[in-house]
Formats: sequence, C-alpha cells, structure tokens
Amino acid sequence: MAQVVLNNVKKIYDNGFEAVKGVSFTVPDGGFCVLVGPSGCGKSTLLRMVAGLERISSGDVHIGERRVNEIEPMDRDIAMVFQNYALYPHMSVYDNMAYGLRNRKTAEGEIGKRVKEAARILELSDDMLKRKPRQLSGGQRQRVAMGRAIVRQPAAFLFDEPLSNLDAKLRVQMRGEIKQLQQRLGTTSIYVTHDQLEAMTLADVLVVLNGGAIEQIGAPLEIYRKPSSTFVAAFIGSPAMNILKARGEGNTLVLGQTRVTLPRPVPGEVLVGLRAEDLQPVSAPAPGSLGVKLRYVEELGAHRLVHGDIDGQPLVIALGMEHAIADAMQFAVDPNMIHLFDSETRLRIS
Ligand code: ATP
Repeated sequence: MAQVVLNNVKKIYDNGFEAVKGVSFTVPDGGFCVLVGPSGCGKSTLLRMVAGLERISSGDVHIGERRVNEIEPMDRDIAMVFQNYALYPHMSVYDNMAYGLRNRKTAEGEIGKRVKEAARILELSDDMLKRKPRQLSGGQRQRVAMGRAIVRQPAAFLFDEPLSNLDAKLRVQMRGEIKQLQQRLGTTSIYVTHDQLEAMTLADVLVVLNGGAIEQIGAPLEIYRKPSSTFVAAFIGSPAMNILKARGEGNTLVLGQTRVTLPRPVPGEVLVGLRAEDLQPVSAPAPGSLGVKLRYVEELGAHRLVHGDIDGQPLVIALGMEHAIADAMQFAVDPNMIHLFDSETRLRIS
C-alpha cells in the first residue's frame, strides 16, 4: 500500500513564520490529491515537506508503511515533477530520463527498457530521445519531466505546479494527459496548483488551503456543491460564486426588494451564495424572483456571462445563448440552490 498520510504537520520557518498550521489528510493508495489555494497559503511548503526538501517542524508524514520524517528525499520512494522541469541542459532527453535510475545503480538493460516504455507512453519519438532539452517545445519538455518520474516507478508522484509555464491551450491538453496517465499507472499522486479548474478536473481528493490550514477537504463536486465557507465558495468554481448580503425574517430570506421563502428558518444577518448557473430567467416578476439591472455582458460563444446588480450588489449570471437580454431582467432561483453563510464567521449555515 502506498498511501500517503499527513498527521498534524506543521512548518515554522527560521524567522518564526508558521507557514503550515497542523495539517492532516490521507491520500489513499492510487489516489490523486490536489492541494489548491491562493499564493502564499503553504501548498508548496506542504509538498516539499512530503518530498523531504523542507524539514517538518512537527507532526508526521507516512509514505506507505514508513514514517519518512527523517528519511532523505532520495530514499523516500517518490518522484517529483517541477514547474521549471529541472532538466539537465547538457544531457540528452534519454540521459535525463535515465539519470535517477543510473544514480541508483540500476542495470543499463533495465534502464533502457523503462526509458523506452515511458517514451512510448508519453509519445516521445526515438529522435526526440537523442535531442537536448532546448531542442524541444515546452510541452515536450514537460513530457520528459514526467518521463523521468515514471521510469523511477515510485510509490508516489509529487507535482509542483507542473503546467504553469505552458500556454493556456497546452495546459488543458497536458492536464488531460496527466489525468489519463495517472489513472493508467495507478500511482498515488499529490499535485499543487493555484488554478482551481486544474484542481477540480484532476483531483479525487481536493484539499483547499487558506493561510496554512485546511479550509475544506473532499471530492471536487462535493466541495463545489457544498462549500464550507465563503472563501471556498469564492475560490472553487468559475465564475466565482456570487456572495450577497441579506437578512432573515423567519423562513423568509430578504434580499434587496426580493423575499424568498426557504424550507428552514434564516438567522438575522446572512451572506447568500448563488452560483452563476443557478439563476433561471423568467419573463415577468414573480414571487421570489430577483430583479437584476444589467451592467455588461461577456460573450463566451457557448454561453454568456451577464454582469448586473441586485439593489446595488454586483452579481454574475451564466445564461444560455437562447435567452434574450434586457436592461432589467428577472431571475428565479430554486431555494435548494441557495447557500447561506454566517455574516461574521463566513462559515456555511447547514
Ligand atoms: P505560491 O502559489 O505563491 O507558490 P504557496 O501556497 O506555494 O504559494 P509557500 O511557498 O508554501 O506558498 O509559502 C507559504 C508561506 O511561507 C508564504 O507566506 C511564504 O512567504 C512563506 N515562506 C516560504 N518560504 C519561506 C522561508 N524560507 N522563510 C520564511 N517564510 C517562508
């Protein structure tokens, strides 16, 4: 079993800054865990502690059956893929991929077999194996970095923003390739990104970090559908969930001029979360419908994003191309699709 377990892991840097504040989670054997969060939330620090590149201040990391806190990176049975690929410029692609195995004194015959197999999986031709990294495109270099990890046949892959240096189109393509590759190899993986879309599409286990602590952990769709705080609600999903100020009167939610009856009581001051796709246009005002004043429209081809406001509060609505647009529009919302958050703690009111 190559599960990875983090138990109350902390990182305090030499200057006294607590970058990771007691993080615990388990990546099951063969699982794909994505650490996501804004810049500075501690995701790279966390990954580097699993890799052994950063000392663990307290807590434990287990890879498979072993506690690895004191074990050197090279002996942790992991392979890391970096944002800058970390390829040796003077070596051929073949030698780059073979490097880690040669260091471990693997027989040349076995190295040859593994490099050829990885090259086949990653569609790197024999000609490319002879080239130097600079003679490859960014996407091809990223494949070589992946190849170097694959040939090691490690217990776990650790990815640190591996697609950040690629253009948008290639990122999407490589994202798909990494997902398929991981499913095919079944290697436990931990992947760091600040891109929520990458996180959503790759993860089986999504860990949302904020200020060095876990804000929410779960399956991507679970988190999308039931964010535990306004932070997660605004971070996961594009466009970000609309967060509006409202108040409760018994079972009635009062949002500007609109009163919506909910199946449960609403406490005094609340924050209402509405996903852009959960608002349905209606032709005339109806009980519970929201009056939206149009600000501007973004045409995305398959659908459009309508930016407007409800009594001065901005919001965005995803609208199918079949719907007409007007300066003032009415939208119905299914009460089950309304998220409520405490206005002070900003935590979900279940
Ligand atoms: P990014 O997406 O920008 O890479 P991140 O979430 O990966 O961000 P980390 O690199 O893990 O964030 O850094 C977490 C926090 O720790 C940041 O506030 C950073 O400034 C701080 N930090 C990182 N390295 C050190 C260090 N060597 N000494 C002191 N503080 C550090």
